[in-house]
Amino acid sequence: MLTQEVLASEWRNKMSRFLDERYASLAAYVPGEQPQDKKYVKLNTNESPYPPCQEVLDSVNKSQVELLKLYPDPDGKVLTKKLADYYSVKPSQVFLANGSDDILNFAFMAYGANGRKSYFADITYGFYSVFANLHMSDYTVIPLKDDFTLDIEKFCSVDGIVFIANPNAPTGIALSIEEVEKIIKSNPSNVVVIDEAYVDFGAQSAASLVDKYSNLLVVQTYSKSRSMAGARLGFAIGSEDIINDLHKLRYSTNPYNINRLTLVAGEKTIDNQSYYDDNCKRIIDSRLYTKTKLEELGFQVLSSSANFLFARSPLIDGERLYLELKDRGILVRHFTSERIKEFNRITIGTQEQMEILIKTIKDILEGK
Ligand code: PMP
Repeated sequence: MLTQEVLASEWRNKMSRFLDERYASLAAYVPGEQPQDKKYVKLNTNESPYPPCQEVLDSVNKSQVELLKLYPDPDGKVLTKKLADYYSVKPSQVFLANGSDDILNFAFMAYGANGRKSYFADITYGFYSVFANLHMSDYTVIPLKDDFTLDIEKFCSVDGIVFIANPNAPTGIALSIEEVEKIIKSNPSNVVVIDEAYVDFGAQSAASLVDKYSNLLVVQTYSKSRSMAGARLGFAIGSEDIINDLHKLRYSTNPYNINRLTLVAGEKTIDNQSYYDDNCKRIIDSRLYTKTKLEELGFQVLSSSANFLFARSPLIDGERLYLELKDRGILVRHFTSERIKEFNRITIGTQEQMEILIKTIKDILEGK
């Protein structure tokens, strides 16, 4: 493991003599670096390189800040209604949370905790296994196939809650809506969570299936395509029953889980969706440019429907490339687990940032 990661995880995993022993072996989630030391070309945590739209900037104004003396609406009714209209569902089928991690946590708590079963892939969003351990889930990790695609059959007709990131992270590979539906349909007695953090960059959302399948929970975030990672806003769409369960847990932990400024910003975002659609198009174009250039440099690049690429080079090992890039002011994400340690996950930034990345990788490979 890289020095900084080791230090961070040692700190997070320290425990006092007071901690409940059930959490003694819990390995905390390790977020991507958010360095404060210098300005990097930051391609490591899949944020949008584009700012929120002007209407969002204008909405977080003095009078909204003055209102911070009052609690926010615990139900976020205005935003909930806007999202419901946007996705053609009822407000009672929409759930808001403090980032989508919050929702994944509730889903584990509600349906996969205390010895109940859960299923997710070996190479997927790292938080699933952390939540599974936190909530004492009896979890099964299903390996991706050799080509890093999901082994769909193995997720069908299981006996516990299923978590699937679509597109998957860190591979970027997406399932078709037919494949997603097959998994949902084959699990009528289990909740199937489709984590669509990256769906706007090229996959098809399962939100249109929520009226057909009462076991489906679609989870989305404002952190990626909607340029609001720093505001912490996620939402879920599902059957009224599932949404009610989540509300019960939310009201039993933190009913005011979304602050006022985030709520208004979230509303203005939905009002200006075309701005964000244009940004997604730009990111998709830059993704194609970057993939093509990396392949010209000999990289293997997995087929991505997300705002990042997962790539490895036969000419340089994954960790070394990560470190050399960091040395030159570019941050990408490197994972140390055996199956993917030769890869780096590269967030798609602006076109200019991607041109800098390609030029820098060329220099590194040429030993400059
Ligand atoms: N799901 C996936 C697949 C992710 O990559 C992330 C971002 N790290 C999240 C959920 C959580 O995003 P957020 O909490 O910022 O909404």
